[in-house]
Amino acid sequence: MATKTPATSTSEQSNGKKDNLLEKFFLDQLKDIYYAEQQMLKALNDMKAACTTEELEDAFEDHRKQTEKQVKRLDKVFQLLNEKPEGKKCEAMDGLIKEAKTIINETKEGTMTRDAALIIAAQKVEHYEIATYGGLVALALTLNKHRAASLLDKSLQEEEETDQLLTDIAESSINFQAEEEDEKSEKRTPASAVSASYN
Ligand code: FE
Ligand code: FE
Ligand code: FE
Repeated sequence: MATKTPATSTSEQSNGKKDNLLEKFFLDQLKDIYYAEQQMLKALNDMKAACTTEELEDAFEDHRKQTEKQVKRLDKVFQLLNEKPEGKKCEAMDGLIKEAKTIINETKEGTMTRDAALIIAAQKVEHYEIATYGGLVALALTLNKHRAASLLDKSLQEEEETDQLLTDIAESSINFQAEEEDEKSEKRTPASAVSASYN
């Protein structure tokens, strides 16, 4: 099959001029996840504040700290490419965060159902990030950018671990306790209120 003019092979050179199409797309997707991580950094604070259990609140706080590191890692990747770090609006992350906010509004505060729902909302985000970082690692390797690939792979692993941790939290207790709740169930004191009373 006839293809158009063969592209010159990619190299590790990063002179800031991106004329390779795949390289341009790679950069574009980096900007997408850079924006997405920063939005998630803010959203995790709201999700934390909405938790019923301390266990989930701690998991969100740990992942918030991890997310800060992931943003720094992306700064490093931009630097390796001789590009300035900048975000590009990610409609998917905006939508997932909007959905998380709706879930908070539509579930009762102080219930296990709230936590079960928050876990699912967070896992939707993790899955988006896993798809993005997975793709970015593959592209980085194709483009011979091995240092960038290993940085992105680190974040990919963190997203996968977070996804697994959330599954474990849901399946070990929260889902079962949520299943017992009905409209008349007594509300628990949300984790954020408990920690506030210790201050
Ligand atoms: Fe992340
Ligand atoms: Fe996106
Ligand atoms: Fe994440």
